[in-house]
Amino acid sequence: MLTGAPRGTKDILPDQVGHWQRIEAVIRQICREYGYAEIRTPVFEHREVFHRGVGETTDIVQKETYDFHDRGNRELTLRPEGTAPVVRALLEHKLYAGPLPVKMYYVGPMFRFGRPQMGRQRQFHQFGIEVFGAAGAGADAEVISLAMDFYRRLGLLDLTLLVNSIGCPVCRPAHRQALCDFFGPRATELCEDCRNRLDRNPLRVLDCKQERCQELSRGAPATVDHLCPACAEHFAAVRELLEAAGVAYTVDPGLVRGLDYYTRTAFEIISRDIGAQASVGGGGRYDHLVETLGGPPVPGIGFGLGLERLVLVMENRGLLAVTAEPARDVFVAMAGDGTGPVAFGLVQALRARGIVVETDCLARSLKAQMKTADRFQAPVVVIIGEAELARGVVTVRLMQTGEQQEVPLAGALEYVGGILNERKKCAG
Ligand SMILES: [Zn+2]
Ligand SMILES: [Zn+2]
Repeated sequence: MLTGAPRGTKDILPDQVGHWQRIEAVIRQICREYGYAEIRTPVFEHREVFHRGVGETTDIVQKETYDFHDRGNRELTLRPEGTAPVVRALLEHKLYAGPLPVKMYYVGPMFRFGRPQMGRQRQFHQFGIEVFGAAGAGADAEVISLAMDFYRRLGLLDLTLLVNSIGCPVCRPAHRQALCDFFGPRATELCEDCRNRLDRNPLRVLDCKQERCQELSRGAPATVDHLCPACAEHFAAVRELLEAAGVAYTVDPGLVRGLDYYTRTAFEIISRDIGAQASVGGGGRYDHLVETLGGPPVPGIGFGLGLERLVLVMENRGLLAVTAEPARDVFVAMAGDGTGPVAFGLVQALRARGIVVETDCLARSLKAQMKTADRFQAPVVVIIGEAELARGVVTVRLMQTGEQQEVPLAGALEYVGGILNERKKCAG
C-alpha cells in the first residue's frame, strides 16, 4: 500500500502550516522593505545549469542531484539549490541589461538525494536572495544584514555570524601555493577526495567534512593573509559597514567556498540548537558565476537559508506556538426540508461581505450543529428552520447570552452584519 510519502519528503499538515506561513510572511515583508522582488523559476532545469552553476566536482552535483530524462529524452535535474536557476533566468531574460543592481529573492522546494537526517530532507525548502551588478561592499553588507535581520524578526537573537574573504583570481595563486606547501608533506594522510583536490583546488581541502582532513587543516594558511590590496580593502569595507549597522560577526579563516567563481566575501550563520553547531544558512559573493554560465561579467552575491532547520530551531525554542483554528464570526444552522439552499445562499452572501462563516455539510441534527457552532466559537448563529422559513423568518441567536430574535429572511444579512459591527466596536 502506498501510504507513506517517499523517504526524505514530508507533509506539512494543516496544524503545522501556520509556522511556515508565518515565516514566509516575514520573508515577503523583509524583502519588500529591502527592495528585493520575488522570482519563481521552474523546479527543474537542464542538467547543464547545475553542472556548471554549482560545480561539476561538488558533492551536490556528483552524488546528490535528482537527474532524469523526460519523455523527450532531455537531460533534466530537479534544482538542488536556487542560485544557478536564478542566474539562468537573469541571462535568458537579460535582466542585467536593465537598471542595476538587480535584487531578487526566492522561496521554494529544492531537491537533493542525500541521507535524510535531522532537519535535512530530500525535498527541502530554501529562502534565498541574490544581488547582481553590485561589486561594492555595500551589497555584501546589505545581504548579510538582511539575513541577520530576518532571524532577528523571527526572535532568533543569538546566532553566530561567521565571515571571511576568500579573495579573487589575483590573490589566489599565492594562497594556493601556500596551501600546497602546507599540505604537501602530509598529503598521504588526507582522504582520497582531498588528495585529488590538492592538485586541482587545494582550497577545497579546507572545506572537507572528514574529521581527519579537518584536523590536518588546522593552522593551514588563511585566505585573509593572502588577499590582494583590492580584496583586503573590500573585506575591510564590508566589516566596517557591518559594524556601523551593529551586526556582530566573527572572522573565520576556515570558512571557504572552493569553487572558482566564488570570490571575496563568504559568510555562514550558526545555531547551537540542533545538536552540534549547525549552519542554518550562508552565502557569499560569486563574481564569476554569471560568466561561467555563459553571460557577461556581472558580479553577484547572495545567500540561501534552509527553512526546515529554521522551523526546527524555532520549535526547540518555543517560538512557534500551535496555531489555533481561526474562530468563525457566524455559524449558519439548518433544520428541515428545503432549508439547505436558503442556508447556503445566506452563507455565501455573508462570505461575500468578508464575514467568516461556517455551516453544516453533514446533515447533522440541530443539537449537533449547535455544538459545532460552539467549537468554532461563533458568537452569532443563524438558525434556518422549516416552520420559520414558511413564515419568511429566520432565528438569530447570540451565543454569549442565549438571546434569540426572529428576523425576516430578507433582512438577515443586514441584521447579522449590524451585530458583528457592534461587537467589533465594543472589542476595539
Ligand atoms: Zn584579490
Ligand atoms: Zn578530505
